[in-house]
Amino acid sequence: MGIDECEWCNLTAKDKQWLLYETVFWDIYLADKQDYVGRCILVLKRHCDSFMHLEDDEWQDLKFVIDITEKIMREVLGAELCNWSCLMNDFYKKSNPNPHLHIHMRPRYRKPVQLGQKLFYDSEFGHHYDNQKQVQISAEEMEIVFGKLRAAFDKL
Ligand SMILES: [Zn+2]
Repeated sequence: MGIDECEWCNLTAKDKQWLLYETVFWDIYLADKQDYVGRCILVLKRHCDSFMHLEDDEWQDLKFVIDITEKIMREVLGAELCNWSCLMNDFYKKSNPNPHLHIHMRPRYRKPVQLGQKLFYDSEFGHHYDNQKQVQISAEEMEIVFGKLRAAFDKL
């Protein structure tokens, strides 16, 4: 098992439409599942199974990526903090796992996020994110979020 069998190494053009920013080692995507508005996924650009096997320059770049992502979530969407998680569990449902390192980021909000005329609430604020939370935003609202975030990343 290697990069040929890895969907993260072979993202489609459709997947890549939500690319917000890229560095030398990492891609930042707006997640398909916008249960928490602004939810992103950081994907390492090379096939690697664990934090344990990251190179020093990839760690250093990850620090930069986390810094800019948190700053933009706070400034653009009004997030008060970000929840970061690297879980990797789904890969291990298979008997022959082929994990590719990626990190989930959920912005968390004390105050509701306003998109157009609509307000979106983080009703679990101060608690663990709800893994069963339903997607709140429409396709059009997702485009708005993407546009705002992309503009902020473009200014870096
Ligand atoms: Zn991969």
